[in-house]
Amino acid sequence: MPYSPARNRFYPSYVEDPEPFWAKVDVSDSASDCWPWTGHRDARGYGRTTKRATTAHRIAWEVTHGQIPVGLFVCHRCDNPPCCNPDHLFLGTAGDNARDMAAKGRVRGGGPRRFDREEARRLLASGLGLRATARMLGVSHSSLRKAVTKP
Ligand SMILES: [Zn+2]
Repeated sequence: MPYSPARNRFYPSYVEDPEPFWAKVDVSDSASDCWPWTGHRDARGYGRTTKRATTAHRIAWEVTHGQIPVGLFVCHRCDNPPCCNPDHLFLGTAGDNARDMAAKGRVRGGGPRRFDREEARRLLASGLGLRATARMLGVSHSSLRKAVTKP
């Protein structure tokens, strides 16, 4: 199927045929175990696929539950970025995600707020304004603007 930017947010192939997706996940018999993505991982440890400009655990959510509502994040209960076990994933807002990460000690105090630039671009592309996106991500609109205009 040719790449289609208009359908990029919900590229249908894995949903119609999730077999090749799960083939790259180390699926365990136990629902309580983590199911790590065996393919490429990004700098933060999230699974990446060349088919979709998104992370493996988001695809795991989509093929299990359907489309992720705009503006929501797929978070890990297990705090294991490459994990694709649907039982370990939950939908949250950017605020939930930030609180969750802070609770798990993944936010270092003092430094600038870190957020997913790709997520920010996606939110902006979905028509959410700069200020609303900044509020959702918990950052100032000036730092958001700086981040998304950087190459
Ligand atoms: Zn897990």
